[in-house]
Formats: sequence, structure tokens, C-alpha cells
Amino acid sequence: MNTDASPLQSAEGTLFVVAAPSGAGKSSLVNALLEREPAISLSISHTTRPPRPGEQYGRHYYFVERNEFEREIAEGIFLEHAEVHGNLYGTSSNTVNTLLEQGRDVLLEIDWQGARQIRKSKPDCVSVFILPPSRAELERRLRGRGSDSAEVIARRLHNSREEIAHAHEFDYIIVNDDFDVALGDLQSIVRAVRQRSTLPWQRHEALIAELLA
Ligand code: 5GP
Repeated sequence: MNTDASPLQSAEGTLFVVAAPSGAGKSSLVNALLEREPAISLSISHTTRPPRPGEQYGRHYYFVERNEFEREIAEGIFLEHAEVHGNLYGTSSNTVNTLLEQGRDVLLEIDWQGARQIRKSKPDCVSVFILPPSRAELERRLRGRGSDSAEVIARRLHNSREEIAHAHEFDYIIVNDDFDVALGDLQSIVRAVRQRSTLPWQRHEALIAELLA
């Protein structure tokens, strides 16, 4: 521990992990949350999935070939990685750890396998699972996206059961029926975590010292 560091500088950010079955509206919720809470940084994952129309390298994902991804796994650059819907996805340790050390909150949009790995290496993380209001609605949202083939949609629908079976492993569960209500719920979680007295107590040490003086 560096005792010379100012208490305010030494406060680490919080790592938020958000998972959901494909079609639950996770990305839209996360994007809306980040607009409301610009102090949170979204981690950009690496993936072997080909880009969807409109997706940009470095903004939505770092799109890489499978052999490059496998080399990166061997080099140990990932905090977590998993195969999801037949493609590899992974989170770079470097970026996430640097941001957390700088006191930034970081959000990972990953699947349940990745969330499980993160819970092991970063037990202070806060995990949230987003559920659709019904299977019929999940299917409707997946088909409505219009950017995936029928085969991809069928595979994602099939895989949603496995993802949902792990919802209980998460700290919080939100049902995305009404978008604005779900967004409010997600933001409440972020705000409540920030007010916790145990986690980032260092952030307020100077204030508390002043109030007690
Ligand atoms: P999509 O291809 O629709 O963008 O994402 C498919 C699934 O992969 C989603 O459940 C998404 O959360 C997950 N995913 C995206 N990035 C990562 C990652 O870095 N690690 C893991 N484990 N899953 C990811």
C-alpha cells in the first residue's frame, strides 16, 4: 500500500458487469445509462464475430481473426474470455485495470461465462442481469433487430435458455419490460453502489475528516 498517495487518488473505480440473453435490450440500456452517467467507461471487447452493418472497429468491438484471438489468449492479455454463439469474445485486462486504478468506473457487457471469471478475479465487482419480460417478447425483439440472419436468430434464441439459467448468480436482476423503468432501475443500482460507505470510503475521507474537525 502506498501511504504517500492522497486518499482521493487511491480510490479505485467500481467494475460493473452487465449480462443478458441476446434480445433483452442490454446494449440499448447500457448506452442510455452511459449517456446519463458519463463517468462510467465502457470496455470495448475483442471478438471474432464479423461486424454487423454500421459497427466500427474500436467503437463497438475490436474485430479480429480467430488465429489472432487465440494468440492473444496465449499471451494472457484477457481478464476474461469465452465462446458465445460460436464466436470468441474477450476483455483486455490492461485497459480495464488502468481505468479502475485511475478511479474510473468501468462497465463490461459480457456473457455469464465471462461474468463468472470476473467474479473470481475481481470479487468487488457489481453484476447485473437483464431479463426480457417474456419469451415471446424476446423472440420479437431478436427478429425486429433486422441485422441477423434467420440462422443466427435461431441460435441466439436457443442459447438464451442457457444464459437465463445463470441469472441467479448476479447481484441484481432487472426486467426490461418498460425501457424507461428498466433504465431507472439500472441507474439506481449504479448510484446506490457509489453511495456505499464500505467500498469507496477513501473517496470521502477528506470530506469526513473536514466534517469531523
Ligand atoms: P453480440 O455478438 O450480440 O454483440 O454479443 C453476443 C454476446 O457476447 C452477448 O451476450 C455479449 O454480452 C457477449 N460478449 C460481448 N463481449 C464480450 C466479452 O468481452 N466477453 C464475454 N465473455 N462475452 C462478451
